[in-house]
Amino acid sequence: SKPVVAIVGRPNVGKSTLFNALAGEQISIVKDTPGVTRDRIYADVEWLNHKFTLIDTGGIEPESKDIILSQMREQAQIAIDTADVIIFITDVRQGLVDADAKVADMLRRSHKPVLLVVNKVDSFKKFMTDVYEFYNLGIGDPIPVSAASQLGIGDMLDEVVKHF
Ligand code: GDP
Ligand code: MG
Repeated sequence: SKPVVAIVGRPNVGKSTLFNALAGEQISIVKDTPGVTRDRIYADVEWLNHKFTLIDTGGIEPESKDIILSQMREQAQIAIDTADVIIFITDVRQGLVDADAKVADMLRRSHKPVLLVVNKVDSFKKFMTDVYEFYNLGIGDPIPVSAASQLGIGDMLDEVVKHF
């Protein structure tokens, strides 16, 4: 069967935007309100003759920081249990936050391949210095992308399929 790749991350970092960019059609829901995506939406993706199943793990809109964190733990656990490769997505504009570090700890302990993707890097010139902060998560080299402008997506997919 095909490898499974799961996208996890805080509400509003751009999980659904990335999912839709890779799925090539608007399957997942993207709204300006954080966290509107329904649980686990699937798409078939192909890159350089590698076929895989992509999962968007976005949850119901959380109301509080506590709920955001518990929901992220739940999503990370789903990804750990079901995915062969995990795309952990963060937001360069919000920067590194505590919830990112907590989820990174969970993912690290799982020993699954994790790609640390830093989204909303719409301009490499403007944002690259901010990307380096994400090395502090200790789960590898941050991969800068702009899901909205589809920048860096090919390089990211190259890294994904290396783990199949
Ligand atoms: P999710 O909650 O993680 O699924 O995030 P969404 O995909 O719904 O995106 C949340 C918001 O971030 C939306 O307003 C998107 O348009 C915006 N967004 C997503 N990707 C990018 C990006 O690469 N650059 C910028 N500037 N905004 C983005
Ligand atoms: Mg979403």
